[in-house]
Amino acid sequence: MKLVIGHLYPDLLNLYGDRGNIQCFVKRLEWRGIEAEVIPYLSGDEIDFSALDIILLGGGSDREQEIVCAYLKEIKAEFIDYVEQGGVVLAVCGGYQLLGKYYKTKEKTIEGLGIVDISTKWEEKRLVDNIVLKSELFDMPVTGFENHGGRTDIGSCTPFGKVLYGNGNDEKSEYEGIVYKNVIGTYLHGPLLPKNPQICDYLLERALQKKYGEEVRLKELPDEMEKNANDYIVKTYADML
Ligand code: GLN
Repeated sequence: MKLVIGHLYPDLLNLYGDRGNIQCFVKRLEWRGIEAEVIPYLSGDEIDFSALDIILLGGGSDREQEIVCAYLKEIKAEFIDYVEQGGVVLAVCGGYQLLGKYYKTKEKTIEGLGIVDISTKWEEKRLVDNIVLKSELFDMPVTGFENHGGRTDIGSCTPFGKVLYGNGNDEKSEYEGIVYKNVIGTYLHGPLLPKNPQICDYLLERALQKKYGEEVRLKELPDEMEKNANDYIVKTYADML
């Protein structure tokens, strides 16, 4: 078996090392003897969506998001088609915001892909903190770091998780991110997947099942270190509430 991972616009969308998520996909496939290929698509490159099993859209500053917006317009129809057919996507922070209808910054409105019915508005106060979530997709809580000026209104979309500690989509709703088909959009930056191998395996399994059949299951990996770190973080932030 083999999965092809498309890294979209790493020249513009790669804040706080979002690329580490790609390495995590690759390593966890290799550890199970499954082949992985990574294709970085720089801004302006032609993207063959039919060749891709997983897409990573990372985070970026408002300025970079504005530049990316022009490239996204060109691939919008194909991207929507990919998602509707069950293609796997992990979109982080700026990339998450761009899955929606628009991101309204102080100066302008950046048009998004319109894949999900969410919209984001910039506010002066940035939301910067560690974050802990409970997602219905996993037993183990999700831990991470957030740093965004945007507040995302997810309307009636399904949230990725309920915020146990931190801010999430908008400080108020107590929800974080969205899940739509095989897409996860989240504000959790940087080493999201290495810290949360349950999310990595979930996305890998969805991609393998789409390609090779619903019966495909990934072999368990020990993940002792990750589980201990997760327990520690969850306990630390629970104590701070
Ligand atoms: N520019 C966006 C914001 O500040 C996204 C930032 C990011 O990707 N960290 O809300």
